[in-house]
Amino acid sequence: MTELLGPLADNGWIITEESFDRGRMRFYESILTVGNGFLGSRAVLEEGYEESYAGTYLAGVYDKSGGQSFAIVNAPNPLVTEILVDGRKLSADEMEVVEHLRVLDMKKAVLYRRTVFADADQRYEYESARFFSLYDMHLGVIRVSFRSLDSDASVVLRTVIDGTTTNEMHAVGGPRKHYRVTQSKGLPGDVSYLEARTNDLGIRIGVASAADLHGAVSARGLETSSSSSGEASVLEHSFRGRKGEAYRLDRYVSIYTSRESEGDVESACLAGLSRARRIGVPAILAEHQEAWERRWQVADVSIEGDPDTLKAMRFSMYHLLISASPEDLDVSIAPKALSGEWYQGHVFWDTEIFMLPFFVYAYPQQAKHLLLYRARRLEPARERAIAQGYQGALWPWESAGSGSEETPPTWINFNGSVLPVYNAAREHHIAADIVYGVHFYYLHTGDDSFMLQHGLRMVLETARFWASRVSYDETRDQFEIKLVIGPNEFQDGVDNNSYTNAMARWALRYACELYEDFYERFSGEMQGIAEDMGLTGEEVDNWRQIADSIILLVRSDGLIEEFEGYFDRRDVTITERDEHAMPLWPREVMLKDVKETQLIKQADVVLLLYLLSDEFSQDVKRTNLDYYEPRTTHVSSLSITSYAIIASELGDTEKAYRYLHHAANSDLEDIHGNTDLGVHAAELGGTWQVLVHGLAGVRVRGDVLSVDPRLPDQWRSLRFRMWFRGNLLELVMSQDCVEASMVEGREAVEMDILGQRQLLKAGGVVRGER
Ligand code: BGC
Ligand code: BGC
Repeated sequence: MTELLGPLADNGWIITEESFDRGRMRFYESILTVGNGFLGSRAVLEEGYEESYAGTYLAGVYDKSGGQSFAIVNAPNPLVTEILVDGRKLSADEMEVVEHLRVLDMKKAVLYRRTVFADADQRYEYESARFFSLYDMHLGVIRVSFRSLDSDASVVLRTVIDGTTTNEMHAVGGPRKHYRVTQSKGLPGDVSYLEARTNDLGIRIGVASAADLHGAVSARGLETSSSSSGEASVLEHSFRGRKGEAYRLDRYVSIYTSRESEGDVESACLAGLSRARRIGVPAILAEHQEAWERRWQVADVSIEGDPDTLKAMRFSMYHLLISASPEDLDVSIAPKALSGEWYQGHVFWDTEIFMLPFFVYAYPQQAKHLLLYRARRLEPARERAIAQGYQGALWPWESAGSGSEETPPTWINFNGSVLPVYNAAREHHIAADIVYGVHFYYLHTGDDSFMLQHGLRMVLETARFWASRVSYDETRDQFEIKLVIGPNEFQDGVDNNSYTNAMARWALRYACELYEDFYERFSGEMQGIAEDMGLTGEEVDNWRQIADSIILLVRSDGLIEEFEGYFDRRDVTITERDEHAMPLWPREVMLKDVKETQLIKQADVVLLLYLLSDEFSQDVKRTNLDYYEPRTTHVSSLSITSYAIIASELGDTEKAYRYLHHAANSDLEDIHGNTDLGVHAAELGGTWQVLVHGLAGVRVRGDVLSVDPRLPDQWRSLRFRMWFRGNLLELVMSQDCVEASMVEGREAVEMDILGQRQLLKAGGVVRGER
């Protein structure tokens, strides 16, 4: 086994599970998830055990099956591998686990395991290594090695494609099976095949598996058989095993769905499988690793002086990268990515605001795929705006395959009560958030052709939405946005949420700016788009006027009122904190009454200060951070990273670092207490933003890339790479020195390094000192 992975010393890339603890199994299943963006596979033990939750999710495969909305399907589990010795199964349910170690090597994206089971006075060693290839996203490999340590034994190695999986981790109702098995069979050459079809959309999922046994078994009565139990396809190798001898099983699984293979999924699976067997595990691993090396060459960071934070950063990036498929599958990334099914795999604003920036910097092609997912759903977004009585486009609060609204009408709260969900009808800031994503992508890539094909329409249709969404208040002589839910969802159904209003204003202005700019540079194309949309210069002027008089509730001292009447609500502040310095829920407030108070769930005003950073002075930022911090419960994982960035902008590096540490470790240390349901992808993306936008102080203004680091004292240096307008740059910085070099690219980049303008030329290096 170790020949596959090399030494397992901690080289800054590994996450380990050091013992078998039933209560922690689901937590490890989430954090040790492996995948490649096409598929995510929770890290269950191959043989299963009572508490395990085998989640296998295929990007974009959603189904409803009588549920409230479409949900990501828990697909057949291709990994089940069982070993029986003298009729007894090696599993924590039947034997004692005397040693157990799992190691996720994030650099190679391989999960390694060694477990020693004991049954009476017999011990058995089980080892495995598994991965889903980044080179061939349809291919998974498990290499298993087995030894009976104390005596000879009769051994059965059983590999199963399990078609009995159901979705159980959701907030409403019981287990739900989203597919039915349509075929399950053994094929010549020790191959098993299972095909399933999802209930509503009839998406076909094919899984083929083959297992080749290596070791000195041929002389000892090896028998191979395959069987099918209807919902499972099974292949067994039985033989007489010698004490101390290692038997190795190389298992290949090939998975296709009818979403990406137009023809017959069975043939695609079988062709993939036979190629895999032909080239073998080492060659498949080499392709996979090479693909990962290319990802890490750009994505990896180096933090001298802080190995723990470095590892946690890599953990964040690993999980984001395994959520991003190498091909455009017309999908986006859910709050739990493909590590769990909570929130039903729906796509929220989490992607554009929290995850997208990482991809824009590290993997722009993927960022484009994420935006294309929205662009291709512009039509349903337009229909939705009309259906809600507005114009333009309004993407759903929760989105799945078709782009229609998937927010469930009810939800089970922390305390078990069933609540109506108003987010679909009210959480309209999503419209501006998606445009913010388009803006961020365009600002960093300069991708005019994306804008001409998709981006402009997205922005212009959204402006049209906002212009129809505002209402004019005569007494104030201003425009209002009434009855919304802001990012802080505790107080729903409020008027003039400052985040929503300011982002709507920004989105309207951005639309006007782009309209003019593209008219100048691409007049023919712009004219075509305008004609198509029936858009006139007057309509655009109207947007400008609306933007100029949208109400923003800012007091004379700069304090922004989160929404109209917020300051009149009961003022409760947080006085107690837990061992992570995180707020404890104030005892005097019942959850059901929280909306009557000024307590907030997550960054709202503070997120606005970050996203539209240049619109607010340092004083305004300070005033608002000071006010909102003691009132923020950070109940949502989409919160603390914005506080970290604003703290960093205000020069409070110690606080920014403390929050970064918290965010980067929140899954590793299960700080939210629900990592068993899946990792928190938005927070992982936010963590990266704290590092790059906060501590490294990287921002793009116009065409200028500026860097103004505020590094923690213990960091001797920080180094990372980023794509900017088609150039790959490397930035290396310490407290008072920044060096930028161009690794790849031809265009000169204008930079502002520690306040000094510099031109970074192709192949060149520029430096600045404080
Ligand atoms: C947060 C939302 C977020 C959703 C999915 C909720 O708890 O309040 O902002 O979009 O979770 O992560
Ligand atoms: C989230 C909402 C979401 C709802 C239903 C709530 O916990 O805060 O953003 O729409 O669940 O999925």
